[in-house]
Amino acid sequence: MPKPIKILRTRNELQHWRAGLEATRPTVGFVPTMGALHRGHAELLRRIRPRCDVSVLSIFVNPTQFGPSEDLAKYPRTFERDLELACAQGVDVLFAPAPEEMYSSAHSTFVEETQVSRPLCGQFRPGHFRGVTTVVLKLFNLVRPKLALFGMKDAQQFFVLHQMNRDLDLRVSVEAIPTVREPDGLALSSRNAYLSADHRELAPRFYKTLAETSTRLRAGAPLSATLEAGRQALEACGFTVQYLDCVELPTFNSPNVVLPGCPYLLAAAVYLGATRLIDNVIVNPAALTAIGYSAPSFEPAESS
Ligand code: AMP
Repeated sequence: MPKPIKILRTRNELQHWRAGLEATRPTVGFVPTMGALHRGHAELLRRIRPRCDVSVLSIFVNPTQFGPSEDLAKYPRTFERDLELACAQGVDVLFAPAPEEMYSSAHSTFVEETQVSRPLCGQFRPGHFRGVTTVVLKLFNLVRPKLALFGMKDAQQFFVLHQMNRDLDLRVSVEAIPTVREPDGLALSSRNAYLSADHRELAPRFYKTLAETSTRLRAGAPLSATLEAGRQALEACGFTVQYLDCVELPTFNSPNVVLPGCPYLLAAAVYLGATRLIDNVIVNPAALTAIGYSAPSFEPAESS
């Protein structure tokens, strides 16, 4: 008989449970999410299972990472289905606090990463990564995991958290898994459900264009002209491009040229109607292992 999942709603419950582990000191693995779970989240849970003695999943739609004009109220909340998925993946503990449990009305402390969080999404979602780092630090303090897994779907988020972990000596293994995609290449996202049938048909062109752009850059095509061609190709199919850009890894500095064998993140945010999609490709992923990032995070995802 599999052990039943333990559902904890308050910080006190979680801290009490965590303190009870001190005697045996098991390896705690952690997957933070905002719920509306899909196969991408299931893959995070599937991969963390064999790497830890106890797995913790959090579901918390974090208000501080949403801008005033963003979809906090509309963010899908599907708790019963999420619970089924968590049980099927053998999660030990589900932490699902209410917003007021995580943020008292007197909350006034925020954590900010000031380099990696600046370009790409950081430029268009002011305060977003500050909300992410703040909530993840709070969750790390409560769960005290050895290992925390994130998805490369949100690559900038992963690098921001990796940086915070290092800068603040949190001593968590912060790792990422490759983006889980539909068979046609579209990255799984809870926002895909908002796409009309026509937009859903168009959506795979997003990743295809990124992969083609990455392949050209790796082959030595000039950077700004290649990015511009990628942007125009997306606009021509019907996407509204918020950004399509390439940054050096792991600094997130803007390169002038793409050097052979060096790692870069090629990332974009586009709109299809009112739905915002993000996706990315790592250029020269093998180069990241040489600078201390674990290999499974960066399986190549480029068109051949
Ligand atoms: P979210 O609930 O959207 O905040 O995501 C929680 C975690 O799941 C984050 O680490 C995401 O990067 C990860 N994730 C979301 N979608 C995918 C996907 N398609 N493939 C892999 N990981 C994903």
